[in-house]
Amino acid sequence: MIDLDNIEVAYKIKNDRELGNAKFLFSMIKYPFMVRSLGFMSNMALKMRLPISWIVKPTLYRHFVGGETIEECFPAMNKMIGENVKSVLDFSIEAAEKEAEIDATFQELKRSVINSGKHEAIPFSVFKPTALTTHNVLKKVSFNEPLTSEEQTSYNNFLQRFDSLCAEAAKTGKPIMVDAEDYWFQKAIDDVTEEMMLKYNHKTATVYTTLQMYRHDRLAYLQHLIELAKQNNIIAGIKYVRGAYMEKERARAMAGGYPSPIYPTKKDTDNAFNEALRISVENCDRIHVFCGTHNEESIHALVQYMKDKGLPNNHPAIYIAQLYGMSDNLSFNLAKAGYNVAKYLPYGKVRNVLPYLIRRAEENSAIAGQTTRELIMLKQELKRRKSLK
Ligand SMILES: Cc1cc2nc3c(=O)[nH]c(=O)nc-3n(C[C@H](O)[C@H](O)[C@H](O)COP(=O)(O)OP(=O)(O)OC[C@H]3O[C@@H](n4cnc5c(N)ncnc54)[C@H](O)[C@@H]3O)c2cc1C
Repeated sequence: MIDLDNIEVAYKIKNDRELGNAKFLFSMIKYPFMVRSLGFMSNMALKMRLPISWIVKPTLYRHFVGGETIEECFPAMNKMIGENVKSVLDFSIEAAEKEAEIDATFQELKRSVINSGKHEAIPFSVFKPTALTTHNVLKKVSFNEPLTSEEQTSYNNFLQRFDSLCAEAAKTGKPIMVDAEDYWFQKAIDDVTEEMMLKYNHKTATVYTTLQMYRHDRLAYLQHLIELAKQNNIIAGIKYVRGAYMEKERARAMAGGYPSPIYPTKKDTDNAFNEALRISVENCDRIHVFCGTHNEESIHALVQYMKDKGLPNNHPAIYIAQLYGMSDNLSFNLAKAGYNVAKYLPYGKVRNVLPYLIRRAEENSAIAGQTTRELIMLKQELKRRKSLK
């Protein structure tokens, strides 16, 4: 089994101060009440437009975010590529309602796609499709509800922007990933992403869709994508994640009186995630995989499926990725063993990144075992370094 616990490898690019900051953060967010208070205070601060940078920037932001702009991400990106860990620059922005604001976001996303073409250290670009129109429009399209003429214009703009980002990615030669968010919007996004795959994925997987494997319909959807790829002689690009909105989805389903789209147990989600990886490796001539997880068991499973199939560690159709600031032991040890590894590196203004930061804090708080493990590893590395001085 591959060793994913070498802490010297894991934290090589972090100095003592950065490790100290990480240790402080993880020891705070392991307490759910701290995270709940943080969530409450930041929501209030956002609503009342209170300044919050002074507290967030030197702590959570510095640990989980690359900077405010693409250029500010370069130092983090350069350090990681020194250890063969690549970066996926992820522009964070609040949902907007006005066309002018949406268009400004689109321009920045385009810049991010073009930028990916210029750097070896950036293997993919990424965007959240909900940033390209309003939530209301995506929800209506997903549920086949009629659009007003203004909404239809916004939807047409959405389709044009979506296509333009994919076309730009095809030009740069670097694939583009379409993030997944709420169940309510996903049908509209899946349909457009399939169209884009049919348009741009003939020679290689340029467009990647995202499958949230906590959804109980996603294994069937994977079979549909495999058929689509076979019948149209394309390569499907698929990012696999477990899914980040479980509580919200369950609460909405309950309130809306429809069945929850999420598996009832974590075990079900884990099984589906690993099964999707197995099927994908089996069909690696038709599917290119981007496996986004901090779950060690899933990584061991993927590594084993690759071995069983006789694929080299650096097979170009398979990437493994974590989020910046999380599970460095996985990223850096996998990269050392020759796997293709990337970190999602978010960038954006503090207030725009805040919901992302709260999600990360909540997630780390929810998976107490993993947070404790991260904390233990950080403490061990600090101790190891001290013993050398
Ligand atoms: C590179 C990268 C990109 C990502 N992009 C996206 C994205 O586009 N969209 C998105 O939604 N998320 C995205 N995520 C976040 C991801 O969906 C997960 O929230 C996060 O990675 C935690 O899951 P895990 O596999 O790392 O670890 P684990 O700790 O093993 O899994 C936690 C996850 O398991 C699931 N789960 C937990 N309890 C239960 C339960 N009782 N029943 C059913 N399921 C349960 C939930 O999905 C939870 O988030 C991304 C993550 C990474 C690393």
